[in-house]
Amino acid sequence: NAATRETFDVVVVGGGPGGATLATLVAMRGHRVLVLEKETFPRYQIGESLLPSTVHGICTMTGVAEELAKAGFTRKQGGTFRWGANTEPWTFSFSVSPKMAGATSFAYQVERSKFDKILLDHAVSKGAQVRFQVSVTDVIEEDDRVTGVSYRDADGAVREVYAKFVVDASGNGSRIHQRVGGTREYSEFFRSLALFGYFEGGKRLPAPNSGNILSVAFGSGWFWYIPLSPTLTSVGAVVRRENADKIQGDPEQALKALIAECPLITEYLAGATRVTEGQYGRMRTRKDYSYHQTTFWRPGLALIGDAACFVDPVFSSGVHLATYSALLAARSINSVLAGLVPEDAAFTEFEARYRREYGVFYEFLMSFYDMHADEDSYFWSAKKVTRNQHTELESFVELVGGVSAAEFDLTDAESAAVRLKSRSSEFATAVDTLAADADQNMVPLFRSQVVRQAMHEGAQVQSRALLGADLGEDHPMFPGGLVTSDDGMLWLPGTA
Ligand code: FAD
Repeated sequence: NAATRETFDVVVVGGGPGGATLATLVAMRGHRVLVLEKETFPRYQIGESLLPSTVHGICTMTGVAEELAKAGFTRKQGGTFRWGANTEPWTFSFSVSPKMAGATSFAYQVERSKFDKILLDHAVSKGAQVRFQVSVTDVIEEDDRVTGVSYRDADGAVREVYAKFVVDASGNGSRIHQRVGGTREYSEFFRSLALFGYFEGGKRLPAPNSGNILSVAFGSGWFWYIPLSPTLTSVGAVVRRENADKIQGDPEQALKALIAECPLITEYLAGATRVTEGQYGRMRTRKDYSYHQTTFWRPGLALIGDAACFVDPVFSSGVHLATYSALLAARSINSVLAGLVPEDAAFTEFEARYRREYGVFYEFLMSFYDMHADEDSYFWSAKKVTRNQHTELESFVELVGGVSAAEFDLTDAESAAVRLKSRSSEFATAVDTLAADADQNMVPLFRSQVVRQAMHEGAQVQSRALLGADLGEDHPMFPGGLVTSDDGMLWLPGTA
């Protein structure tokens, strides 16, 4: 009975960073938003190392940046890597030089239980409603359009709620993502497993890099080492799926054995003890986490964040892609509800920009792995970009080709292999130059094409959030595409 239906403008499935950001940006335009979240917050999540554009771009737009600044999260000036041909660690700083760190050239390392709760509470303060402990089980379709979802309440009752738009932000375990159509394609190249836990009392990098993520390559893969507080560290080992035996059996012993394979992490954890209680007491594993859905939207439904795609954790792109896709989807919804742009144009723009950004990080990360020198290791030889990776390269061409032909200029797997090789060797040369530079001037690295592209759109979002109309008019990203309004909240038709 349509008269008794519970109806919202937008129903968001999942209250992680993607869902909370989208809910905030749509509620800020006065629309009625409901977030359905399976857990009760705070809840544990992995993905602790952020990028500046999330903090200073999107979180500035939503108005939560000040609260984040007060939360006491570790300040991250960049990443320090024992990676590539250099035996000594080198540092990627978000500012041109560590000595010139600007007011917005840093990010945070966050305990996700705290970070995600701040973002979701903020959505509520902007007018969104949230229901916890409700699990969305399916979407409702009417006349080829998604018009709502069904969900199970904490008390087990099955209910329905209707909306003009449903946004799936329920992460990698989404139960409804396939209802958008297409398929979820898993990456061969990034096929990995992670085993992770938490330590008290680990060593810190010297200032000004003490808040940096430390990423260390070793024979079987690589480690992340993330300082969450002056004493608490998140430590994870990433290995190839074919090495799954290395993380099977007792996880504690498995992590110990992997740490023993990696001298730098052994040194950093020499005086540390593993946390065995509370949310960090359990060791956890994740597998096969790099994938993308071949379609991101259909009428009435859009996928954002991990529900849509994810690529490898090494450069902290997960929360960036989740919040960035939330911004793109929010612009689409806000513009359609305001009658400014037809749904098809608005969501085509959403998908094209999202797919481009995902493709940019995908290429950046392939180059990042390709420059590693250890030819003897199974993990690293499998990460060399070779023409044998035909399926992977084909899927890369498909991923970016349709949306951004000019920028990627790819016709087939062969041209993708050639392009990737040249870009990763340019990147490796820039890293060598940086590693040899006592002044740590980042300009050569920022000039390399893969890095420049990976930082470009984040910097745009950040500038728009900080400068608004003063940034000047936006230009279409694609021929005939839409542009962003001065406040970044809407799409507008581009000038012909
Ligand atoms: P999530 O954070 O997964 O939130 C989804 C929410 O939806 C959850 O709260 C969940 O409870 C809820 N939900 C699920 N199903 C339902 C349902 N049926 N009904 C209602 N609610 C539901 N990213 C980084 O930026 N930096 C890192 O350092 C980093 N490290 C990583 C390391 C590993 C090993 C992995 C696998 C990932 C890492 N990531 C990292 C990625 C990061 O975890 C994700 O990209 C990010 O959490 C995605 O945010 P989201 O909002 O899309 O989804």
